[in-house]
Amino acid sequence: MSVFDAHDFDGHEQVIFCHDAASGLKAIIAIHNTNLGPSLGGCRFWPYASEEEALKDVLRLSRGMTYKAALANLELGGGKAVIIGDAATEKTPEKLRAFGRFVERLNGLYITAEDMGTTPQDMSTIFEETSHVVGRTTKEGGSGDPSILTALGVFTAILACVYYKMGQTDLSGIRIAVEGLGHVGLDLVRRLSQAGASLVVTDINETLLQKVAGQFGAKAVGPDDIFAADVDVFVPCALGGILNDRTIPFLKCQIVAGSANNQLAEPYHAKALEKRGILYAPDYLINAGGLINVTYEGPGYDINAVKSHVEGIYYTLLEIFEAAKAHHMTTSEASDCLARQIFSKK
Ligand code: NAD
Repeated sequence: MSVFDAHDFDGHEQVIFCHDAASGLKAIIAIHNTNLGPSLGGCRFWPYASEEEALKDVLRLSRGMTYKAALANLELGGGKAVIIGDAATEKTPEKLRAFGRFVERLNGLYITAEDMGTTPQDMSTIFEETSHVVGRTTKEGGSGDPSILTALGVFTAILACVYYKMGQTDLSGIRIAVEGLGHVGLDLVRRLSQAGASLVVTDINETLLQKVAGQFGAKAVGPDDIFAADVDVFVPCALGGILNDRTIPFLKCQIVAGSANNQLAEPYHAKALEKRGILYAPDYLINAGGLINVTYEGPGYDINAVKSHVEGIYYTLLEIFEAAKAHHMTTSEASDCLARQIFSKK
């Protein structure tokens, strides 16, 4: 298996393959860039079909963290870890502790956190071996559920988009479709409803869908019908790759702004949205609220300081929209460009 020639290799500083015979741990830690500070990124516990697939994921995700941290004005670089295995059946405290020892060996160059397949409790187990971990439970000194801050960032971004595209400074009467009513989506629906938006919602969980629709007076539609909803804003808060050849032709919205990671199936879909007159808010910029939150963790944690940092996404987003217009780029290209300028400086 080639690393330096891998499709997703992007000048990563270090890629560490970790094996612990006693626990059976197989993990990969990727450190993409530490120009701005130590690399930080979640640890994903996932049943990858092959080592190649795990490597691809960790290379891609760690690169994304560099861009996300740079635009969030954090003194952090990008890193990520994957543990190969099914979290439901193969996750053991021994494996997590072994992983913690590998993180410890890196001496703070990589800070781990919760991700798909891991929980705040798992971070506490890892903390038994290393202090280079964030996202433990509040009871144990961590900053708790990051989704609320992620939702705040996306809400702030929707306000910026509506102002830029529609000239309105609040959300009253704005028609918004939210896909995915999980940790982020649900909190966002609550905020949007309070702000006077008119809502269309969907989720593959029918019970949840009906409950949320009833609670907030939203219109419930099936997962395949959300794309064609007659709305001003489409808010993807479920899966990645949702903006693709199949879905984009259906969109009636003027704005796409949601929390899901990697919403564009391919980079060229940014252009496809632009051609249809749709303003796209780059996902990694507007879903950085959770990342910002964990950086404030520790004694003296100040939720108001976190909130005002997250709300700064409003101005960064407007800066990116202006840069995209001035340089005839898509908003996605403008965002990447600004992030690269920031993290390449030092
Ligand atoms: P979650 O798992 O709590 O919720 C996802 C919801 O989407 C679930 O209710 C699920 O039933 C629903 N869903 C799945 N597939 C669907 C489909 N095809 N159509 C409609 N609904 C579908 O996840 P979350 O923490 O709310 O995160 C949502 C998205 O935001 C994810 O892509 C995640 O990677 C991203 N994100 C989350 C955070 C965070 O702080 N939680 C931070 C950054 C990015």
